[in-house]
Amino acid sequence: MHQIAANIAAVRARIEAACAAAGRPRDAVRLLPVSKTRPSSDVLVAYDAGCRRFGENKAQDARAKAAELAGTPGLEWVMIGHLQSNKARLVAEFASEFQALDSVPLAAELDRRLHATGRTLDVLIQVNSSGEASKSGLPPQDVVAFAARLRPFDALRVRGLMTLALPAPDPAPVAACFARMLDAQRALRDAAVPGQTYDELSMGMSGDFELAIAHGATVVRIGTAIFGRRPAATASAPRGR
Ligand SMILES: *Cc1c(COP(=O)(O)O)cnc(C)c1O
Repeated sequence: MHQIAANIAAVRARIEAACAAAGRPRDAVRLLPVSKTRPSSDVLVAYDAGCRRFGENKAQDARAKAAELAGTPGLEWVMIGHLQSNKARLVAEFASEFQALDSVPLAAELDRRLHATGRTLDVLIQVNSSGEASKSGLPPQDVVAFAARLRPFDALRVRGLMTLALPAPDPAPVAACFARMLDAQRALRDAAVPGQTYDELSMGMSGDFELAIAHGATVVRIGTAIFGRRPAATASAPRGR
């Protein structure tokens, strides 16, 4: 078996065990393999292991891979990194989901580009749950007001929230980040924007996904544990471009 396929099997088993430990059904959590910096050939190995959606953080790289793999049925691209408005056109063309929405001007630009192409885009609002200055995303207390301002943008389907937790070795501060996400989701639901349930919580990466599942994650974004270590230059660049 290819190493990537073996890693996917191992990660799936760990997700299943974490769901069982949390008393959640296995299908409550989706695996999003993060293929950023990886060649299309690696994406195809994961595809053969049953993966269809892949996370990328740089619009141009993702666009190039999408073009290379255009003949692959059912393949979808999920943008997980900070996006500048001047890349909105690219993302509107090929992505099926964008997990790092954190500004109204960007939402407006994506909506405009999507209307031009006749597409819609699933989006998650990125929340800065750790309070680190280096992280993108909205402060948790701003999420409800932000979501209300997205209502005019009808090509965007707001599915929920995304975060990167504190990269801490001790689980307590990491768990506190995830707990803040559940609070933000609850506040959103209480604010009751019609037609929105904000079901998705994208949280948990290679180092902390079991803890995230224990705290209600519905999507875990896994790069290193599937594809191996990334080149040093991009290994710690979650803001992306
Ligand atoms: C790179 C990246 C991941 C995957 O991180 P790993 O630690 O390699 O699993 C998840 N989320 C975001 C936003 C990323 O940029």
